[in-house]
This record gives sequence, C-alpha cells and structure tokens, in this order.
Amino acid sequence: MSERKAVGIDLGTTFCAIAHIDAYGKPQIIPNAESERITPSVILFDGTNATVGTLAKQNSVAEPEKIVDFVKREIGKSREQFHREFNGQSFSAEELSALILKKLKVDAERYLGQPVTDAVVTVPAYFNDAERTATIQAGQLAGFNVLQIINEPTAAALAYGLDKLDQDQTVFVFDLGGGTFDVTIMRIENQSIRMVATNGDHRLGGKDWDDIIVNLVAEEFDRLHGENPLLDLQSYQDLQSRALAAKIQLSSRPRTTIVHSFNGKSIKIELTREDFEQLAAPLVEKTKAICEIVLQEARMAWANIDKILLVGGMTRMPMVRDMVLRISNVPLAEQVSPDEAVAIGAAIQAMLAMLGEEDKQGERHIPAETREQFSTRDGGLIQVTNITSHTLGIVLWDENAMEEYVFPMIPKMTAMPCEVKNAFGTAQANMKKAVVRIVEGESTVPSECTPLGTCSVELPPFLPKGSPVEICYQYNTNQVLSVIVDAFGKQAKATLERNAGLSDLELARATSNLSLIKVE
Ligand code: AMP
Repeated sequence: MSERKAVGIDLGTTFCAIAHIDAYGKPQIIPNAESERITPSVILFDGTNATVGTLAKQNSVAEPEKIVDFVKREIGKSREQFHREFNGQSFSAEELSALILKKLKVDAERYLGQPVTDAVVTVPAYFNDAERTATIQAGQLAGFNVLQIINEPTAAALAYGLDKLDQDQTVFVFDLGGGTFDVTIMRIENQSIRMVATNGDHRLGGKDWDDIIVNLVAEEFDRLHGENPLLDLQSYQDLQSRALAAKIQLSSRPRTTIVHSFNGKSIKIELTREDFEQLAAPLVEKTKAICEIVLQEARMAWANIDKILLVGGMTRMPMVRDMVLRISNVPLAEQVSPDEAVAIGAAIQAMLAMLGEEDKQGERHIPAETREQFSTRDGGLIQVTNITSHTLGIVLWDENAMEEYVFPMIPKMTAMPCEVKNAFGTAQANMKKAVVRIVEGESTVPSECTPLGTCSVELPPFLPKGSPVEICYQYNTNQVLSVIVDAFGKQAKATLERNAGLSDLELARATSNLSLIKVE
C-alpha cells in the first residue's frame, strides 16, 4: 500500500486537470510537462506518436486531419457508433480518452518523482451507465487502478467544503464547461456532503457560444464573397479558434475584432459584448431553465441556497455570472478556481478512498495528520453521498394495453449505493428464458428511454404464466449497475450485456494496442 500514489482527474471536454494530496495533506494541482495547470483535451496523431495538450491544440489548424478533440462528447458510444482512424489503427472513445489520461499520468509521475497508481476520475452527474463504464475503462487502459468515478459537482463541492464542514449549508453548483452543462444542489450537514438534486444538458457548453461567432462570421463572409468558409476543414478549424479567442476577449473587453481569410478573400468583423450577449441569449436562457428545474426537483427556492459555486471556464463570462446573480441573489463562493475545483475534489475523494481501503485492510501507511484532515470530529472519514441522476427501469408487457411499458426500478434521486428488488410474473406459460431489458430515462415509453442492455436467465421447464421471477438492481458508488435475477431459488448474477463499452477481451486487446503508441 505504501508505494501507491493516488490522484484526482478532471477529464474535461476541452481541458483536463490533475491533482494530488501533498505530504502536508493539502490538495494541489499537478502541472503538466509544459508547466501548465490545465491540459487541453486535444490529441495530435503523428505516426505512432500521440501528442496531447497545448502542442496538439496549436496544430489543430495546420493539421486538422491528425487531430481529435471533444472526445468526451462521444464516450459511452460503441466502436461502431464512433471511432477515429490514424495510421491504419482504429481508436474508440475509450482509447482516445485513455491517451489523454496517459499524458496526465506520465507528466504527474515525472513531476512527483514516483509512479502514480490509483485515480479517481470525474464525470458529469448525468452521465449514464454506459458513459461511466467507458470512463472507468479509459482509466484502466491508461494504466490506473480506478478507485472511483465521481460526479463533477460533488467533486467541486468537496473542494469547496473540505474546510467548511462545520457550517451546515446548501450549495448550488453551476458547472458550464467547454461541452457540457451540469447543475447540482449539494447539502453540507453533520460534517458530510450529500447530493440533493441534479440536472444538466449533455450538449450545452462553451462550444455553442463559439459556434455563434463562427456562424456569424461565416454568414457575413458568404454574403460578401459568395463562398462558405466552413466547407473547408482547415478554414473551419481556423475560424473556430478565432471565435474562441474572441469569446474569451469579450469576457474582459467590451468589443473585439475577428479577421478571417479563406481562398484569398478576407473579412473583418467587429463584435461588441452587447451584440454577442443578445445573440447568445437563448443559450443563457437554456441554462436558466435548467437551474429552475433542479430547484423544483429539490423542492427548494433560491432562498434555501446559501452559496453558489461556479465551475467550468464558461462561468468566467459576464453574461453567465450576471444571469446567475440576477435570478438567484445568492452570494458566489469566490475562493474556488473554476478550472481546478473538480480535480482538487477528485484528489480529496481519492484520498478518502485510500483511507477507506486502509481501514478495511487494517493497515495504516498514510500519515495520521493526513487522516485527521479527512476525518470528522468523531474520527470517522468524511462521508460523501451521491444520488442517481436517471431513473433505471425494466421493460415489461402490459396485458391490458397490449404494449410494452417501463417499470421504474430505481427512481431518479435515490442515494447510492442502493439495491431494489421486485418480483414480476412471466409473460407466458413455459417460458424458456427470462430476458430482462434495462433502460434508463424518465419516460414509461420504452422508445423514449436509453437502452442500457439486457440480461437473460434460463428458466425451469413448464412454468405456468405469471410465475414469479425476482429481479434485483444494484447500483454501486460509481453508479454502475449490476442485475441479479432470482428464479425459483436459482439465483443468477446476470451478465449485463451492455450496448456499449468493451468486453474484458477487448479491454486486454486495446491495452496492448495502446502500448504501441508513444504519448507525450
Ligand atoms: P472547461 O470544460 O471547464 O475547461 O471549460 C472550458 C470552456 O470555458 C471553453 O469553452 C473555454 O472557451 C471557456 N472559457 C475559458 N475561459 C473563459 C473566459 N475567460 N471567458 C469565456 N469563456 C472562457
């Protein structure tokens, strides 16, 4: 145990950060080999080399065909649904994420002067089973023992609350990143941290604000020169980086100028913050609506919130901050860096997990002073409770309506880990197999939910219709599911045939393929 070293990783859509607990028990960000505290989640492939980070990002305009970015938006998809090919090799979303994680690992080991073995990796709270499983697999492919997957807002609340556990309070985490939006209400009470409600939009983030500028320039260019500058990949990438830079400038300046050239023609556009705010108003409105939904789900009003935690680079934008302050009238927690809070929280959770393992094994290697900093007044470890972000159901047959429907097994907002059992009657006489179809979502209509997978169990012969089969859904602390089917005392832990994710065999194959790639 003593030679183990754990880190916390914020695996972001546009940026990543990695942190650890230092010898004094304090969480610290680990800078990368380029001495940066955050690393762009961009990969540049060159033969068998993969360059991750700023260097790759800088090359995205010159060599767009060798670049992969926004991988997080694809995680959880099967290889058939998403893959990229370089140098004759196909890379799944897990493998691409693993290359990013490998870069963080290699740089951290160099900085710390010791091997990094264990990691807690963060995910958006609304990530589903497939996306969480794929994130764990990406961590394993990068060579980590993945201690836990935790929700980004929980991590942010941990980073904020570690030294404030004595003050009971309700914290609203507003996390707007490069590609995703997540809002969560957390309660700090009795020296523990509990998630109360969560909601989000998987496809709302900084990129949508960038796209507003991209489209504005492209339309103007087309009007002026009769040509669409977005049809050329290089011109498109170039315009994207200019739009991103303009957006960031507008956070601190009232106006900016965007110049774009394509096919020997160019355009110069002046954009004021006011105009940009007007164009982006529907996006800000979307974030506002989700805030209101999550308050309703928690049965709370803004008056019940003590602090707002802004997380994600996009919360630096005045239009976002102003909206949050205007609708809530709640003070912001200013002491947390929006780019670093999630990784810091993940490092804290990693330490809690390591201390928990020591307790289980009856060994003590971590210094007593460090243990103290992660313990409550009565000496136990700080407790962090997450809730489920989606309802998990089973597809059943409705005799009367003659159609399928979804029966909710684990409702949204259930504290984890959890276990729910229900008995169902077989749909016909003499059924050979009980096939359980697991879906995730809030609807009772199967086609409106996300199918997670199926599992099947052989049944004894000649069972009458309506014979009881007990089905048990278990969620572990990572919000990853297992299913147990109990038919007539014959209990079978059903293998969940996931629609996405890698099998053990694929995982081993992917590990050996990735080992051929040099990551820097
Ligand atoms: P994250 O995924 O949390 O790293 O968020 C990164 C997003 O924040 C990207 O879309 C960035 O363009 C955006 N961002 C970072 N800094 C600023 C800033 N000062 N003003 C506006 N957007 C920013």
